[in-house]
Amino acid sequence: MTTVGILGGGQLARMLALAGAPLGLRFLVLDSVADACAGQFAPLLLADYRDAPALADFAARVDVATFDFENVPAESARWLAERIPVFPNPRALSVAQDRLAEKTLFRELGIPVPEFAAIGSRAQLDAALAAIGMPCILKTRRLGYDGKGQFRLKSPADADAAWAALGPQADTVGLILEGFVAFQRELSVVAVRGRDGELRTWPLTENWHDAGILAASLAPAAVDAVLQAQAVAAARKVAEALDYVGVFALELFLKDGVLVANEMAPRVHNSGHWTIEGAQTSQFQNHLRAVLGLPLGDTAAIGRSCMLNWIGELPPAAPVLAEAGGHWHDYGKSSRPGRKVGHATLRADDDAALAAALQRVGAALGREAQVAPVIERLRSS
Ligand code: AMP
Repeated sequence: MTTVGILGGGQLARMLALAGAPLGLRFLVLDSVADACAGQFAPLLLADYRDAPALADFAARVDVATFDFENVPAESARWLAERIPVFPNPRALSVAQDRLAEKTLFRELGIPVPEFAAIGSRAQLDAALAAIGMPCILKTRRLGYDGKGQFRLKSPADADAAWAALGPQADTVGLILEGFVAFQRELSVVAVRGRDGELRTWPLTENWHDAGILAASLAPAAVDAVLQAQAVAAARKVAEALDYVGVFALELFLKDGVLVANEMAPRVHNSGHWTIEGAQTSQFQNHLRAVLGLPLGDTAAIGRSCMLNWIGELPPAAPVLAEAGGHWHDYGKSSRPGRKVGHATLRADDDAALAAALQRVGAALGREAQVAPVIERLRSS
């Protein structure tokens, strides 16, 4: 009996546990919150990620450890890796935790990135604003997600407000200033690398955000083979440089035919949720296969899929369940503004059928704005 330990007990751990059940796997989830939603399907060890006795207990009870949460303290990951196999490795985790480290790595690997500069003081902010130009974004280096810890600057007059908002964090989580990329599309590539170094990627996904949070994904994205190959090449370089094992996502901006890397998520990713029903093998199943050293599954898409995120509260499920290719995912969480509480995936054999299903679901749920850009892309591609 193999037990997989997961640090973090949110919906990603929950979907990993669901994907692992057919493989006969057991799970143990470590989380500091008693109602962590993965705890509905796997035993939950309730403790802080820095709690040494709890980490020792966790290490004694699992065969391999992985992450649902990328901000697990790097020292805890390193401590565990000295005792049990941990994938991805702690160095990969720590690079991906730090926007400055990951952008520096991307640049070293020849992957296009926005202009960026480390910011440690107000004087450095002023110098970087002059060098990078407007518009730009001041971000925390660590612990930011879903658009949190970001301040957009349109003119030098915004510098005071930006510094008031994020300056106090310069000495704790660090700051980075990035040039704003006036992109035409946001894309992501989800990839998996096995313990033996084999790399597989799912087709590129196009993503739409609302207030910094993913709202909808369309896969395969309507892009040509050249862009797909560029994204795969970038993912391969990053994975090999970090000796990465498991699933990760590269978030990309498409600007004037060039893919510019925004960030890397060292885990299964929201833009890969469509793979549960829309690909031969899901990101969750392949992540488990990778960390356990099992053969990786086929990543080919089955038709076309659109994933709709439910943020804050769940809409009624019936309109999605009524669709032939409709799939519902309720994460078992309580409602809270800005919280990811579930998603739906609509799958169809062709663009016209997917657009029609999205139109019906959007209208029935009053979510016309959420589905509109996806329908527009399906009709124009
Ligand atoms: P992040 O937390 O870095 O993924 O940023 C959240 C969202 O903000 C991204 O998905 C983009 O829509 C937007 N964004 C972040 N960085 C940039 C940038 N340098 N240029 C343009 N848009 C950005």
